[in-house]
Amino acid sequence: MRTIPLDTVRGTVCKLYIDACYRLNDDMRKAFKDAAKTEVNPQGREILQMISENAEIAEKEWLPICQDTGLAVVYVELGEEVRFDRPGLKEAINQGVRQACKEGLLRASVAKDPLRRGNTGDNTPAIIHIDMVPGDKMKLTVGAKGTGSENMSRVKILTPSAGMEGVKNFVLEAVTQGGSNPCPPLVVGVGIGGNLETVAEIAKKSLYRPLKDKNKDPYYARLEEDWLKEINKSGVGPQGLGGSTTALAVHIEALPCHIGALPVAVNIDCHAHRHKEAVL
Ligand code: SF4
Repeated sequence: MRTIPLDTVRGTVCKLYIDACYRLNDDMRKAFKDAAKTEVNPQGREILQMISENAEIAEKEWLPICQDTGLAVVYVELGEEVRFDRPGLKEAINQGVRQACKEGLLRASVAKDPLRRGNTGDNTPAIIHIDMVPGDKMKLTVGAKGTGSENMSRVKILTPSAGMEGVKNFVLEAVTQGGSNPCPPLVVGVGIGGNLETVAEIAKKSLYRPLKDKNKDPYYARLEEDWLKEINKSGVGPQGLGGSTTALAVHIEALPCHIGALPVAVNIDCHAHRHKEAVL
């Protein structure tokens, strides 16, 4: 067994959350630059240059990329040979988010109650997913999920007869009806299969693959390519003002499902596609 101090977990979550909010990953920055070379709408090209410049200024002046510093979504891949120096893994993660909110001046965006509202004041509780994996390491991935794009996401249980075409139409509809609301260009996470809760989970998790990584199954890798092309033919464009760059990537994850159902979820992320990871 290997012991990891929970203070290390707290400090790492704090650093990852601040880094995610302040420094956009290189794959996104390259994608903005590449898209600016092919975007057909001059206004769209200008927007791509502006969001590229915005990411550079944020890093240089150490400021958040966007005013909505998101809901903290934390994935833990926990080695079965890891133990902690004291109880309280989830609390240590929430302490890290709380510390990041204070030290990084991140916006407190969590309502205490969905109907009565109020604000928790420190962006906790985080959304935490824990998976047990073999080994003595712990991998932490922290996403800062903006809500303009989350609000345009959707989930539905289709009937099996809807097939691939039904799933594709559901995805395209989510993106086109979202229009400018999710702040395109987007990263589109798609979950297919599982059940009501797991299909939404895999759609979210797929967002946090490296941008250009494909599904390992060639069938789904091909669908990712084809659906990206279709989305970019929709004309939504950068910031929804028209053009050929509506999304930068489509990531699909699939799971076995009940013979009587075809669950599908679309989790949309915006151009402020923020996530960082570390292995302890
Ligand atoms: S959707 Fe993304 S880019 Fe738009 S306001 Fe929210 S976090 Fe910012």
